[in-house]
Amino acid sequence: MREIQMVDLKAQYEKIGPEIDIAIKSVLESTAFIKGPDVKLFEEELQKYMGVKHVVSCANGTDALYLAMMVPGLKPGDEVITTNFTFVSTVEVVALLGLKLVIVDPDPGSFNISVEAVKNAITPKTKAIVPVHLFGQCADMESIMELAKKHNLFVIEDAAQATGADYILKDGTTIKAGTIGHIGTTSFFPSKNLGCYGDGGALYTNDDALAKKLRSIANHGSKVRYHYDDIGVNSRLDTIQAAILRVKLNYLSKFNSARKAVANQYDEAFAGCHSISVPERVSYSSHIFHQYTIKVKNGKRDELKKFLESKNIPAMVYYPGPLHMQEAYSNLGYKENDFPVTAALCKEVLSLPIHPDMEQEQIDYIILNILKFFDK
Ligand SMILES: *Cc1c(COP(=O)(O)O)cnc(C)c1O
Repeated sequence: MREIQMVDLKAQYEKIGPEIDIAIKSVLESTAFIKGPDVKLFEEELQKYMGVKHVVSCANGTDALYLAMMVPGLKPGDEVITTNFTFVSTVEVVALLGLKLVIVDPDPGSFNISVEAVKNAITPKTKAIVPVHLFGQCADMESIMELAKKHNLFVIEDAAQATGADYILKDGTTIKAGTIGHIGTTSFFPSKNLGCYGDGGALYTNDDALAKKLRSIANHGSKVRYHYDDIGVNSRLDTIQAAILRVKLNYLSKFNSARKAVANQYDEAFAGCHSISVPERVSYSSHIFHQYTIKVKNGKRDELKKFLESKNIPAMVYYPGPLHMQEAYSNLGYKENDFPVTAALCKEVLSLPIHPDMEQEQIDYIILNILKFFDK
C-alpha cells in the first residue's frame, strides 16, 4: 500500500504528468510568462465550466478576496460580516482594507455561516456579507441573497474550497458555487480541488462593470498600458499556472466525483459509530469534499488523531483555534465565550485523508483503524 497523504499530488502527477509537461514546455518555448495566451484561454474555459459571464484570474485566493472587497466602494468603518470558522484569508483582507470585521458563528451541522447569526449581526453600518463554502459544500446562499437584497448588502462568496460544487436552487435548477453572489472568489492553491503548481486565484461575476474594474485593479489599475484609471495592485495568474490549470480543469468533474465516492464509503462505514458524526449533507448543495470532516465526541479527537498517526494515517484539524482568539484580531474586543459553536467545533473536528487518487486498500485501512479505535 502506498503511503497515505491528506492530498497526494505526487500520485496525481504520475497520472497526468505527460500532459502537464507538454503544457509547461509550450509556455517555456513561447516565453510569454505574463499574460500569455493560456491565461485568456483558461479564463474562457473556466467561464464556460462555471456558467458565469466573467472570470478574472489573479495571483492567489487571498488576493481574489482583497480585489473583490476593493470594488463595491466600501469605506473604512463599514461593517463586513463573515464566519468565524474559516481560513484566515477571509478575515485578514477585511482588516487590511480598514473595514470593520464582524464575525459570526457557523451552523454546527454544515460548518457554514449561520444565516440566523448573520441576521442578528446586521446593523445600519453593514455593507457586505462574505459566506465561505467550507470544505466543499455551499452555504445557504438563497437565504443570504434574500437578506442581502432586503438590506442592500454586497455579497462576496469565498468559493476557494468549492470549485465545481453545485448550488441547488429552490426551483431545482443548479448553479455553480461562487456565481450566486455579486462576486465569487476562488484559489488554485495546489491542494484545492482545482489546484495549480504554485499560487493562483480567480474571481467570478456576472456584472460587466465589476468585471472591468476587477480586471483593471488586478493589473495596476490600468486598462490601457501606462494609463491608470484606478489605484491597483499587481495580482496576475502567471502563464505557466494557467497552462497547468487548463489541463487540470478537464479532470475536475472526474476528480470531484472520485472524492465523493471516497466520502460515501466513509459515510457508510461510520454510520453505526456513535462516537463520531459524519459531515452533514444539506439539501441545497452538492458536496465535493475538499475536506471530509468528522466530529469526534466525548473529547476523544486528539487521542484519535494520535492513534491514527501511529498507524501512519495523517489527519488534520481545520481549524484548531477560533479566529477571534488570535493575537492579530485581539483588537476586535471579542471575548472567549462569544462564539460557542466555533469553540466547540475547534475541539471536535477532524479531517480525514480524501483525494481523487486514493486506493481502495488505503480507504479500507483508514476505516478499519478508526472503527478499531472506538472498539477499544
Ligand atoms: C485556500 C483558501 C483561501 C486562500 O487562498 P490562497 O490561494 O492560499 O491565497 C481563502 N479562503 C479559503 C476558505 C481557503 O480555503
